Amino acid sequence: MTRVHNFNAGPAALPLPALERAQRELLDYDSTGMSIMEHSHRGKAFEAVHDEAISLVRQLLDVPDDYHVLFLQGGASHQFAMVPLNLLPPGKSADYILTGGWSEKAYQEAGRVGTVRIAASTEVDKRYTRIPRQEELQLDPSAAYLHMTTNNTLFGTQWHWLPDTGNVPLVADMSSDFLWRRIDVRRFGLIYAGAQKNIGPSGVTVVLARKDLIDGGRKDVPVIFRYATHAASNSLYNTPPTFAIYLVRNVLAYTVETGGLDEMERRNRHKAGLLYGAIDERPDFFLAPVENESRSFMNVVFRLPTEELEKRFVTEAAREGMVGLAGHRSTGGIRVSIYNAIEVTSVERLVEFMKAFVARA
Ligand SMILES: *Cc1c(COP(=O)(O)O)cnc(C)c1O
Repeated sequence: MTRVHNFNAGPAALPLPALERAQRELLDYDSTGMSIMEHSHRGKAFEAVHDEAISLVRQLLDVPDDYHVLFLQGGASHQFAMVPLNLLPPGKSADYILTGGWSEKAYQEAGRVGTVRIAASTEVDKRYTRIPRQEELQLDPSAAYLHMTTNNTLFGTQWHWLPDTGNVPLVADMSSDFLWRRIDVRRFGLIYAGAQKNIGPSGVTVVLARKDLIDGGRKDVPVIFRYATHAASNSLYNTPPTFAIYLVRNVLAYTVETGGLDEMERRNRHKAGLLYGAIDERPDFFLAPVENESRSFMNVVFRLPTEELEKRFVTEAAREGMVGLAGHRSTGGIRVSIYNAIEVTSVERLVEFMKAFVARA
């Protein structure tokens, strides 16, 4: 078996020990004579896995007791609708900060539900190369909430500070940087993250939500779309994606074993430092579009002098076992996704390749 260096943006690489655990447990989970997929979602075996996954999220992030941890379906895109359906009542308006393609989608979807405002946008000619500054934000002090995207997966930018919103609840799409390091959950009213970038396979979305915010949510929407429904039933209102939750459990248990989020942050900073170091060493060849202070530690984007060279870069890297390096179809260029599961050695290997590529180009 040869495993490649997988730099895909999502679904993305998973830690090998978490997959090996799934392999060992696949046919006979915990001596029950069946896989976890074949268990009832209401039985003891799955319940234990489900509760462990939730408590691992709580442990890793020090989630306060007055926040729910929910496992929902439909991806982050589903949250684009669920957030306004719950938190944006008629007569109120919600603020959105646009920093990339995903925040645009969240904004557009909310506009189908109610009144939305753009509190800031860093778009120039359909591209986003930076995070705004606090002075640029035009916040509505009576907004129902302020929505932001903490890491912009397509454009390779990331927030390294949080907007001061006063009493307005902050809602964050953290799909591509959830658990990359510790955060202060109290700063947020609601956080959501599709698992398939940083913490598991696709199929499950983690939501952290302040209890009072959800309890005060709209009651005039179908029950399946209400956070309160899922909170009241510990995310078991209907059949959850059991295997995806099981794998998230494996990934998070492994994260705790390897030193938790402090160690994760140390590794992630080291990996990003190696890559940006290689880019900055040859600014004549590797063209980094993102402003320095807005650079992402999760998705590193750059361009080469020609599209022809970019194609060669991707093809030749793949030949050496490094895959997933082509930029998003809407942006082009190169994108290296270095989520939690990417080993430092994979990044070192890529940096070597980059140096050799410049030398022979
Ligand atoms: C991938 C991604 C999404 C979309 O996730 P789905 O699970 O496909 O709906 C939304 N927001 C961000 C920041 C993402 O990276």
